[in-house]
Amino acid sequence: VLKGTGRGALPPMLEQYVALRDEHADFLLLFQVGDFYETFGEDAERCARLLGLALTHKSSKDFSTPMAGIPVRALDQHVERLLSQGVRVAVADQVEEPGAGLVDRKVTQLLTPGTVTEERHLTADENFLAAVATGDGYALALLDVSTGEFRCAAFHTRTALYDELARHRAREVLLAPELSGNAALLADFQARFPVMLSPANFEEAAARTELSAVLGDVPGTLGTPALLRACGAVLGYARVTQQGHLEMVRRVVRFEPGAHMRLPDAAVRALEVFQAQSPQGLTLMDVLGGTRTAGGRRRLRAWLRAPLLDELSIRARLDAVEGLTRTPDLRGGVRALLYRAHDLERLAARVATGRATPREVAALARTLDLLPEAVTLLSGQDGLLGAVRARLGGLPDVVTQIRAALVDDPPLRLGDGDLIREGFHAQLDALRAESLGHRAWMADLETRERQRTGIGSLKVGFNNVFGYYLEVTGPHLGKVPADYRQIATLKDRARFTRPDLREREREIARLDAAAARLETEVFTELRVSLGAHAEALLEAAGALADLDVLGALAELAAERGWVRPQTASAHARLTQARHPVVEHASAAPFVPNDAHLDDTRHALLLTGPNMAGKSTYLRTVALCALLHQIGSFLPADHAELPVYDAIHTRIGASDDLAGGRSTFMVEMNELAAILHGATRRSLVILDEVGRGTSTLDGLAIAQAALEHLHATGAHTLFATHYFELTRLEGDLPGLVNLHVAAEEDERQGLTFYHQVIPGAARQSYGVEVARLAGLPAPVVARAGKLLTALNTQGDDRKLVRELAALDLGRLTPMQALELLHTWQREL
Ligand code: ADP
Repeated sequence: VLKGTGRGALPPMLEQYVALRDEHADFLLLFQVGDFYETFGEDAERCARLLGLALTHKSSKDFSTPMAGIPVRALDQHVERLLSQGVRVAVADQVEEPGAGLVDRKVTQLLTPGTVTEERHLTADENFLAAVATGDGYALALLDVSTGEFRCAAFHTRTALYDELARHRAREVLLAPELSGNAALLADFQARFPVMLSPANFEEAAARTELSAVLGDVPGTLGTPALLRACGAVLGYARVTQQGHLEMVRRVVRFEPGAHMRLPDAAVRALEVFQAQSPQGLTLMDVLGGTRTAGGRRRLRAWLRAPLLDELSIRARLDAVEGLTRTPDLRGGVRALLYRAHDLERLAARVATGRATPREVAALARTLDLLPEAVTLLSGQDGLLGAVRARLGGLPDVVTQIRAALVDDPPLRLGDGDLIREGFHAQLDALRAESLGHRAWMADLETRERQRTGIGSLKVGFNNVFGYYLEVTGPHLGKVPADYRQIATLKDRARFTRPDLREREREIARLDAAAARLETEVFTELRVSLGAHAEALLEAAGALADLDVLGALAELAAERGWVRPQTASAHARLTQARHPVVEHASAAPFVPNDAHLDDTRHALLLTGPNMAGKSTYLRTVALCALLHQIGSFLPADHAELPVYDAIHTRIGASDDLAGGRSTFMVEMNELAAILHGATRRSLVILDEVGRGTSTLDGLAIAQAALEHLHATGAHTLFATHYFELTRLEGDLPGLVNLHVAAEEDERQGLTFYHQVIPGAARQSYGVEVARLAGLPAPVVARAGKLLTALNTQGDDRKLVRELAALDLGRLTPMQALELLHTWQREL
């Protein structure tokens, strides 16, 4: 039962430990023993390893087991570390005061990375638990128990599923047996996501029961069995960890992955939307994230994860941002108000599940107090801002209800007393008044007894051992009246009590305990009645989050002079566009650039030396497209952009992922996904494709990929150091050469202007950079010769093409001779 124990029977406490541990076999059990949470046996070894704790032994005469413990007060921080390492934790507390026998213990908390709701374990961002099942394609269910958000979607390909999982940053992923049972698939999932192997129930019948229990019925929108099973699995798992409380889950939203712009995970990473590629780097989220509330921050992330496809919705957001940009008073008012708001969504969820503390309910009231103000601020607004106003105004008056019952500054925990306002509950008031009467009597006791006994220094005191007592110093002991009973003797004084004192003291304790119980009851009632408004609270929370994001985008637009993009049908035209993050982060002035794509120029081939600014230019265009489709202004003087169905990127040689694939393999995988996925309505950004292999291979792959993309008609920006590709310009209609200006100088070497201008770069500069880097002169010279030779091969190809294209039947001998003459001259 316990590894490493001796032969003897287990002591009773360890019997209890083993029983609780086996009941929660998927969890690491932390078992309270006084001031410590202990683990024993194998779990102790594991715990010591995971937390870097010292391993000790619990031993007696014929018994010994490894033991590792953490102090009770350090529980939170250790739990956090365990969760972040993907370990589920069960906390068993002592649930009675230690006495003579074995203390009773119960598991009071089940904590898993994807289902924690305590504020101290959460970040401001979402905390999704995910479940995946298969059937006809893949089904994904996502649940954030801290807010009640519950979503699901079906996917045709595993790639699309991976993208969605990555985008939601699921903290815990449950796999259906048909997936976890396949070793290769399981390994693939585990390499990418925090997969939890667990007995989550993926059966269809169980899912029906689970959904009916939580939502009242089985929504017809779920459709496929796989979706049903995935949804049932997350609910079932969450129900166990929440110990039955899933009241915050009100509905499940099935979203269509196709209803939003496709933004593959590779693009999210390459564009550094949420995470920078260097440790100190800034992200797009950092630049945009001027939101004032946690809910707003989560909403902005959601918008960035799922950019819009619908032109009207984009326009509605842009109208709202513009409205707020144009009226600084409204914007300032809104943002000042949001600054005072608490996390309404999570507070609503905690109220709904009956977990909110008195402080949280008070915070809820303070936040709800802001809503009428917001409604007033937004009066007269139409469109999205008008809709926000309507959603904020639809709440019944719960603030008055809370205010009437709860004191302004309630204590942290229930049971600490003094949380219900006076005048709210007659019986409670009566209990308190009676207790107060006894206390007043006690307070006056000193004066009365001094008069009665004539002992001027007599004192009334209180301590936890004796309760109330009367204290008399040595010289006056002779004057002590007969009804005093001595209970303690100190060096120079003695303490006394009296039967009536005892009586009152017991009475005070009884009254206070009754009041505390009643307070808890009244508070619980209040919480339940608030819970009935959970839906309206969540609606208001959503509106507040929208308002926060719109306000933040407007603030940024106004501060930085960003422009409102126009939605175009099929062309892109950016004037003086800047990279929102680089411009913000770097001290050097940013050089703005134009970009222009349409049917006659839908593939732009960008050449120029390393460090010229190619990559930055590509990302600028992609980020502008992304900003347009979340409904944001963007950094340019003028912008017209189409609604892209996807942004695909393949940028740089990214580091090897956890899967152990080679860099080149990763690159080709990503390229394959793009070539399969791009349509004529996509934006494709390719940077240095083919770099991970030999020059000729790389060049061949780059050219073939470019030709393929060119044929799809997608808006393509292709940056390359393969100077040879610039020759394609004449052959592929719609392909246009651009280069980044750089100047070569004998003494100063290369100077970069970061300016994108028409035409191919004059040369690849590679040899020049090699010379600057100090390669020996003969090597540089030889490289120059080889380069010329390779370029000549290019000329040969041109001859071959012309020869192949000749229609010999229509050529006179004279013309043939002239051609031969020309060709010879060219060689
Ligand atoms: P490349 O892709 O051509 O190697 P990068 O785009 O990585 O070049 O840019 C190289 C450096 O030049 C980066 O440090 C970047 O911040 C800076 N840079 C690029 N474009 C600009 C610009 N338009 N204005 C100012 N600095 C720029």
